[in-house]
Amino acid sequence: MATARADTPSCSNQYPIPDRMKAWVLGGPEELSLVEKPVPQPGPAEVLVRIDAIAVCATDIEIIRHGVPAMIDGGLPFNRGFTPGHEYMGTVVKLGPTVDEFQIGDRVTVEVHAGCGRCQRCREGMYTSCLNYGFRAKGHRANGFSTDGGFAEYAVNNINTLAHIPDEMTDAEATLIVTAGTAMYGLDVMGGVIAGEGVVVIGPGPIGLMGVGVAKALGAQPVILTGTRDRRLEMGRRLGADAVVNVGREDPVEAVQRLTGGKGVQYVLECSGAPNALNEAARMVNRGGRVCLAAFPAEPVPVDLAYLVRNNIYVFGIRGEGKSATHRAAALMAQKRFDAKLIHTHTFPLAEVPTAIRYARERIEDAIKVVVQIR
Ligand SMILES: [Zn+2]
Ligand SMILES: [Zn+2]
Repeated sequence: MATARADTPSCSNQYPIPDRMKAWVLGGPEELSLVEKPVPQPGPAEVLVRIDAIAVCATDIEIIRHGVPAMIDGGLPFNRGFTPGHEYMGTVVKLGPTVDEFQIGDRVTVEVHAGCGRCQRCREGMYTSCLNYGFRAKGHRANGFSTDGGFAEYAVNNINTLAHIPDEMTDAEATLIVTAGTAMYGLDVMGGVIAGEGVVVIGPGPIGLMGVGVAKALGAQPVILTGTRDRRLEMGRRLGADAVVNVGREDPVEAVQRLTGGKGVQYVLECSGAPNALNEAARMVNRGGRVCLAAFPAEPVPVDLAYLVRNNIYVFGIRGEGKSATHRAAALMAQKRFDAKLIHTHTFPLAEVPTAIRYARERIEDAIKVVVQIR
């Protein structure tokens, strides 16, 4: 019966919910303080999530330092009592009116973006490109970007952004599902069959490494990872890469041609943001091949457009994890198709968020994913 849950209590004694919670908030640039905030209340189609763990992302570091790409009602997030953080998981502890898709006690991971649900892009499933991005009054939410994020004890989330996680998956591993979902979305937009097709991943950061795991789990052959750091490349091998190329020692385009018998690959997932990455990617794919950009250079860069046109190369760009790719990534991880846990390094408690962020920033060369364990 559709209305059955409307009669059931919307919270239980199993998870007593306080009125106030601890939350880190952003003052000016680089200024984080731990304060008490009211625990938010879920509306229709929303639940309250007790946050159990959150990973620190390079984008969080950007937001804390520069404000962008966070944007609240058209302005920067500084001095608005804004809580950053977007890669989190937790436990459902309270249901909003009409919610019967989740139950109290469910362990869930949280997708970053709930679009407005009313614009053309949201209706197409491209809610990471919502046309009402940042306008909360029109219903847009993006955790840690336009609405409060996860460096706190509780957060409200739309049910569309939640995915169940299996009991045996650790909290820390579950924080990586949204990262894997971003890589999955990159492969989705290229529209490939993937199984039996060649994929190059440029850049072994968290998204690139998850890209290797997802591409291999979908049956890509070969999966080639290129980068500059041996330790990360080795991690890529353990996540399923058939070959890795250290671009400091070998030209990556020549290496891909060598590894594919001169044929090149069908797809490149570009996760490095290196200035010449698109030009190199174009020469790694075969004629009619596809390139998806999931990272970007800090400055405008020259691109050999004539080469792209002459070779009918398609170029895509993604922001985040649209079309419920996070759910498909969660399914692969629940089936243990790759071991995402490999990319974790240190864990910190909630009281040490600034230390966790400093650690992630200072050790960006080798610290892949730092996790804050809140419960
Ligand atoms: Zn992130
Ligand atoms: Zn929208």
